[in-house]
Amino acid sequence: MANPIPVLTGQQLAALDAMGIAVWTRRHAPEREPELVDGQVQADWEKLEREALACTKCALHTTRTRVVFGVGRRNASWMVIGEAPGADEDRQGEPFVGRAGQLLNEMLRAAGVAREQVYIANILKCRPPENRDPKPSESESCEGYLQRQIALVRPGLLLAVGRIAAQSLLRVDTPIGQLRGRVHQYGPAGTPLVVTYHPAYLLRSPGQKRKSWDDLCLARATVAPLPTTSPVSAGKDER
Ligand code: URA
Repeated sequence: MANPIPVLTGQQLAALDAMGIAVWTRRHAPEREPELVDGQVQADWEKLEREALACTKCALHTTRTRVVFGVGRRNASWMVIGEAPGADEDRQGEPFVGRAGQLLNEMLRAAGVAREQVYIANILKCRPPENRDPKPSESESCEGYLQRQIALVRPGLLLAVGRIAAQSLLRVDTPIGQLRGRVHQYGPAGTPLVVTYHPAYLLRSPGQKRKSWDDLCLARATVAPLPTTSPVSAGKDER
């Protein structure tokens, strides 16, 4: 049965109030209660992960150390999507484990969302050499895996982290500054999608963190994350 939806602490609400941010009301109830991933869904995950781990669709398979498939709660109401694995992720096989990942965790935590509550994946499953931007052909080769992950998670909200993720998911080349600040829709299901800055960018430009906080508030006002207490399995791997 339903666990109570987590709310911000009094301290967080006071901080928001002090910053002049109105307290939000949730516009969409979470669509699903915590539930065990059923057998068919489990089989679909396993098949998808097997395929991704063996992928040779683009040249990145020749330079990767590990395929970074994705990690987290497989029926999460929030799905966080980044760009591509960096060096740490390539080594460990899990997304957002380096410095940017630490900041992402902190940002989520500040918004009252634990990393374990969300599912995290990237546009690319393999690291581009020297962390260069993904090539369009690489994103195209990889997009089927992410689409299948999104279809399996069925998130209530997609949080696109950084320009590459936002432009790739929304199929636009609009600057990220113009994509932030509103709720987009993704795919035929019209999944709400919120754009925020990449934590690696925030590490270089900490003055922009306030805007990212606004984005997380928008995300949270759009769909509340599920509580942490479900026994649902956590898959491993990705950036
Ligand atoms: N940056 C990303 O976009 N994804 C990761 O997994 C790590 C860093």
